[in-house]
Amino acid sequence: DVLIEVRGVCKTYANGVVALDDVSLTVEKGEVVCIVGPSGSGKSTLLRTLNALEPISSGDVRVLGERVHDPRTDLNRLRTRVGMVFQSFNLFPHRTVLENLTLAPRIVQRIGDVQARERALHLLDKVGLADKHNHYPGQLSGGQQQRVAIARALAMNPEVMLFDEPTSALDPEKVGEVLDVMKALAAEGMTMCVVTHEMGFARAVADRVVFMESGRITHVDAPERFFTGS
Ligand code: ADP
Ligand code: ADP
Repeated sequence: DVLIEVRGVCKTYANGVVALDDVSLTVEKGEVVCIVGPSGSGKSTLLRTLNALEPISSGDVRVLGERVHDPRTDLNRLRTRVGMVFQSFNLFPHRTVLENLTLAPRIVQRIGDVQARERALHLLDKVGLADKHNHYPGQLSGGQQQRVAIARALAMNPEVMLFDEPTSALDPEKVGEVLDVMKALAAEGMTMCVVTHEMGFARAVADRVVFMESGRITHVDAPERFFTGS
């Protein structure tokens, strides 16, 4: 069951930079795919084309059966099915942690207050932050904020999760607490695409590692083969 299918995608930015040069990739249900490579190689652009945060110049992207870059596709609906976590946590600063998790389910999915709150508290418990539900994001450490951001994405019950360098903005000692949450999610069978520099995470958790360079995928491999060089 293929959930993500990228075919022959090219992307040139307005300034002429070719960020993606004929990229093709499929992700099956339940797979964890890590995208690695040097800075500027197109990893973030590729991830962002998957929920149309970035338009493409040519090619085709299908996510959950929807043609993402077809103007007829209901992107708001698609984005509720695709969770995204960014490097900078992007929480609503003037909302409590609990409100950060209940807002979209209540407004977009029209879920009742009680049920939204229950789901939010359950997810906060999963990421180890149930006791912080009345805090504001600014009162939390970076690692805690990113765990809230993951829980907030999960509150929409997404079928796929996209992570764009989720630990890059964290102090080194906070990286592990976020990776642990992601590992647990992977173990539950969540389909995940993760742009990361954390090679240890890629080796331990990824089903496949996609290596990018200069806008191209240079190889795709199972992590055990990739990291032993055989
Ligand atoms: P990575 O995530 O691997 O660091 P990016 O996808 O961010 O790579 O960037 C790929 C290339 O596209 C880089 O050369 C970068 O400078 C360029 N780029 C990224 N975003 C933009 C933008 N909004 N406008 C112009 N060029 C961009
Ligand atoms: P954790 O055990 O999750 O890593 P920390 O050691 O980062 O937690 O933080 C302990 C407490 O200090 C947190 O509950 C948080 O409220 C507060 N705290 C930590 N870092 C910051 C920060 N940069 N800004 C504000 N509060 C912080």
